[in-house]
Amino acid sequence: MFDVQKVREDFPILQQEIYGKPFVYFDNGATTQKPRVVLDTITRLYEIENSNIHRGVHHLSTVTTENYEEARKIIARYFHVENEKEIVYTHGTTDSINLVAFSFGEKFIHEGDEIILTEMEHHANIVPWQMLCERKKAHIKVWKMDDTGCLKLDDLVNLITEKTKLIGVTQVSNVLGTVNPVKEITQIAHKHEVPILIDGAQGAQHVPTDLSGIDCDFYAFSGHKIYGPTGIGVLYAKTKWLEEMPPYQGGGDMILSVTFDHTEYLEAPFKFEAGTTNYIGAIGLGAAIQYLRNIGLKEVFEYEDQLLAYATEKVKEIPGLRIYGEAPRKVSILSFLIDGINAYDTGLILDKLGVAVRTGHHCAQPVADHFGIAGTVRASFSFYNTFEEVDHFVAGLHRVVEMFQ
Ligand code: PMP
Repeated sequence: MFDVQKVREDFPILQQEIYGKPFVYFDNGATTQKPRVVLDTITRLYEIENSNIHRGVHHLSTVTTENYEEARKIIARYFHVENEKEIVYTHGTTDSINLVAFSFGEKFIHEGDEIILTEMEHHANIVPWQMLCERKKAHIKVWKMDDTGCLKLDDLVNLITEKTKLIGVTQVSNVLGTVNPVKEITQIAHKHEVPILIDGAQGAQHVPTDLSGIDCDFYAFSGHKIYGPTGIGVLYAKTKWLEEMPPYQGGGDMILSVTFDHTEYLEAPFKFEAGTTNYIGAIGLGAAIQYLRNIGLKEVFEYEDQLLAYATEKVKEIPGLRIYGEAPRKVSILSFLIDGINAYDTGLILDKLGVAVRTGHHCAQPVADHFGIAGTVRASFSFYNTFEEVDHFVAGLHRVVEMFQ
């Protein structure tokens, strides 16, 4: 049985008070808190084991290299990836997408080509493609969503042409919470022989993700959003692409041999991991994913669904509150506005009550534009949040309404 009180003991940061009030952290979409095992892993690494990987013959370098590669296997297993060499360490989702835009884009996208992106993408899955399109004179086509925050598969079929060279879609919208049918989208892409990149920044930590079943070409996520350290992330890419794509950055650790005339690169994933990587972060990420598996993915995801359903019902009691994002399949992200009350003011008052939410456009301005608003208040829940915390948050919203209306 999932025991939230027991789980909360694993997260030291949740034990504190803010302004003398119990700390309620509902900003998990921005970053998640770290369990003790991740903190202990990082401390142990710096205190006892720290040594640069891959090029040492001495004991600590060997141990750290083994741990780094073991973390790659843990990550591969979590995402049902058979060949861990398809897991490339990056700095995060943004870095992973830039890697694909620069490397895949440089080689495979040319003047007049088209890239399809959904209207609900985070800026991280828009701007790198715009930069590529400027360099290559290619174009972005936008796959629009409806007012509930859903995409229609037929619309995608109508957008694909023989010039389409890539489809980019978020697994989960960071504003609306929509879970997109990435497997079906991938099937459509592949029927038209178009590769697909999935932004998993908000999906990896909330929905079971079987990358071999989905069969996508690229998948990006960030360690810090899945209870791991900041500054580490992953790009999953199919071997056939990793073999064909040129390196994104050059330097140490990605080469087989160097002369001033010519450099031979290592095979993937190392070809894409130039310089000293964030190996401490990678091992910390492995610990985070192992922790998540140990408490039980099914239990965690079911509990988060219950929290979302409860919070959704409760906030509907607030007069004048509108929810943005009403897809049938959502993760625990709740965006809303209260009539006549600025999102920022709502966030500030909640903060004074010890409740951390995020306000603004959430780095997905086209979503705000779709609804003709500047932004929303976003409460995003994790499995360590409680129903009592939701009650406290809703009571805070009633206070906001009393003060402003
Ligand atoms: N994509 C989505 C859907 C996100 O929510 C985020 C983070 N808010 C990103 C990409 C970027 O992640 P990072 O800043 O960790 O690179």
